[in-house]
Amino acid sequence: MTDGHDYRDPHDVAVLVQALRRRTTRPWTLMEVCGGQTHAIVRFGLDNLWPAELTLIHGPGCPVCVTPIGYIDAALALAARPEVILGSFGDMLRVPGTRQDLLAARAMGADVRVLYSPLHALELARREPTRQVVFFAVGFETTAPASALAVRQAQLEGLRNFSLLVAHVRVPPALRAILAAPGNRVQGFLAAGHVCTVMGYHEYEPLARAARVPIVVTGFEPVDILQGVLACVGQLEDGRAEVENQYARCVRRVGNTTAQALLEEVFEVVPRDWRGLGVIAESGLGLRAAYADYDALQRFGWEPGQGLEHSACRSGAVLTGQLRPNECPAFGTGCTPEAPLGAPMVSSEGACAAYYRYRRPLPVDAEPA
Ligand code: SF4
Repeated sequence: MTDGHDYRDPHDVAVLVQALRRRTTRPWTLMEVCGGQTHAIVRFGLDNLWPAELTLIHGPGCPVCVTPIGYIDAALALAARPEVILGSFGDMLRVPGTRQDLLAARAMGADVRVLYSPLHALELARREPTRQVVFFAVGFETTAPASALAVRQAQLEGLRNFSLLVAHVRVPPALRAILAAPGNRVQGFLAAGHVCTVMGYHEYEPLARAARVPIVVTGFEPVDILQGVLACVGQLEDGRAEVENQYARCVRRVGNTTAQALLEEVFEVVPRDWRGLGVIAESGLGLRAAYADYDALQRFGWEPGQGLEHSACRSGAVLTGQLRPNECPAFGTGCTPEAPLGAPMVSSEGACAAYYRYRRPLPVDAEPA
């Protein structure tokens, strides 16, 4: 979001880099939570600008990437039913399941469609009353309100041929799990600005206090990210652990209370399995009993299984920051955006896709672009 300011201004970037170099006196390890932030860091080479003492670990903030393979397999099973139209965001259709992805299922005759929102799926259900329209709903708290709105509207209209395969996840429990993991190195977080536009940042305050970690709500442009990192490092250098809001042009402490009320009405907090992180208590959203008719798993009597990653894919290690994407042996060879082995190479917010796009060593005989 812009307010007329140029958040890529080279002069501002240079000033912030200098400030960061002055402020950093010791090694610190931070995590940028959101895949959009990862892409900006890699795209603009920000990590080549800041001091060597500073390490940023790429976090699990790409919703397509963290959706576990068992849910992809469940979507494939639903799509195989002749009465079902299965829709989701474009990236989801290319994520490999245990045996194939949804695009391959479409090539074999399944009715799988790219849909831009659950409301688009609702519209399709109105137009196709003899078919069952299932929307594969992935995403953080940012996209969940649109799912909630679609379900509530379907109930109001008495639509019986619309349902959601719900894979929405919540960020704060994932941060708690990362901090509690054995060998955790994260000392501060850049929280995802867009999630906080919906949820605010008050729910991060107990976490910052209890775990003694600074959390800075941060946007997605170079100046945003450098300001977020500078604020986080400043707290660490001072021995503080607070929640700060760098993204004040979009985020209020309380967030969007209308969207939160909608989420509260339609969804309840449930445990959820994350690719790479496993099952995390209170980290998912599931439909409340009053809306259970719109739960595709219940409607079609299906339970997501474990699924099986490609044996060469190290996405779990990438998503938990144990491995840089270009350290994966399959990176750029066995695994490319055209033929991905795992979700982080598919998604437009995936860390592997970011490294492939911006950090791939060119063949020695390649002409510069
Ligand atoms: S480069 Fe490909 S195979 Fe390696 S972790 Fe990323 S998605 Fe998986």
